[in-house]
Amino acid sequence: MSVGAVILAGGKGTRSANPTIPKLAQLVGGKSLLEWHLDLLAQSQVREVVIVSGHLGDQVAALAQKVSELARYQGFNVNTVEEPDPQGTVTALRLGANILSESVARILVMLGDVLVAMPVEQFLSNWELSGKGVAVVAHPNNHPFDSDSVYIDSTGRAIAVPKGARTGRVPNSASAGLFAITKAAISRYLSARDFGSNLLVQAAESNDLFVFTGSHYLKDTGTPDRLDATVKDFEGGVISRRGDIGLRRALFLDRDGVINAVQPEVYRAKDYQVLPGVASEIRKANELGIPVFVVTNQPGIAKGLMSPEEHFEIRSELDAQLGVEQAFVDEYYFCPHHPDSGFEGERIALKVECECRKPHAALAKLISLQHGIELSKSIMVGDTARDQGLAGNAGMGFIHVSSACDLESEHVCEPDSVKAIRRAVEELAC
Ligand SMILES: [Zn+2]
Repeated sequence: MSVGAVILAGGKGTRSANPTIPKLAQLVGGKSLLEWHLDLLAQSQVREVVIVSGHLGDQVAALAQKVSELARYQGFNVNTVEEPDPQGTVTALRLGANILSESVARILVMLGDVLVAMPVEQFLSNWELSGKGVAVVAHPNNHPFDSDSVYIDSTGRAIAVPKGARTGRVPNSASAGLFAITKAAISRYLSARDFGSNLLVQAAESNDLFVFTGSHYLKDTGTPDRLDATVKDFEGGVISRRGDIGLRRALFLDRDGVINAVQPEVYRAKDYQVLPGVASEIRKANELGIPVFVVTNQPGIAKGLMSPEEHFEIRSELDAQLGVEQAFVDEYYFCPHHPDSGFEGERIALKVECECRKPHAALAKLISLQHGIELSKSIMVGDTARDQGLAGNAGMGFIHVSSACDLESEHVCEPDSVKAIRRAVEELAC
């Protein structure tokens, strides 16, 4: 059984930068979007591709013919099919899936106008291991309030909420425009017309959705502004930095004492406050294409001071406050454990000696594996000896936030976290 790809290149093109040429023919870095798609697939097992077109179908077919003849796509089988009357992304997918060979059991679904630079084979293999019928790449973005949300809740369950249907606090985690589905699952969701608004929601409700949280480069180029931004990202090295499928450098941030004040300790979202100036420093890392990860010990969960749900709401509140300033963290990792017993109301199952509590390096190593991060070239910003210990155990650089610079041993110190994050971003960008 093999994996094929369906590229959805329909739609009327009315939002497009140049409605007289197909979006797949638009250039980024001198290369058409179709070439970007095929170059991505060339790094994976996928060799069979169907492009579903609507608007300008003849031009799409001609482009596909011309591009697939390039020497570097030898071995690819690219077909096109024209959708007579566009009916939504899932309907278009069904049309494309019918053209793939019988031997194709799993389908990577790409949106024609989303430029993707990420380890697609890792997405496919993790999806297969999950056993789910449907998969989506999710990532935070700088416009979380008008995106389809897809996230894992505090119980580990996948949740999908179409834009406009959101209520309350949810993490900044949006559908990035790259999906996968088994042929068998296509026939399970017969009433779905659109991926974001129907199919992901139905799959999540059926516990059939795998969410892959990505920190690589996926960007919608479907409007003139977005295409311009993507071209600028290419020229500024952002696509090569964030989209590198080799090992990348990243910024690691402690939470309490770096993103928010260390005192008073916060156990409810309504009390959570990002420190002034921090969001704009994080945004600079985002704009440069430097992945940002939070690594935090939250022993208050084990001690019974807050529930996992309350902690999850705090994380969502953090995302919301950063989102107001178009900033985001790529993924949030926390240790809920605590080694010492004896607290009233504590959660006994979490009262353990674990490997994820800083200064242990398990979370940093997990981030390295899941996101392709080179720890020895990355930097941790923290305010405690535990953060320094994590950096040491993981082989990362360390910047200490302290007005007193009171940690022993040599290290870089800045008096506040705004200056510390700024310094880390400057070092990571060069
Ligand atoms: Zn732990």
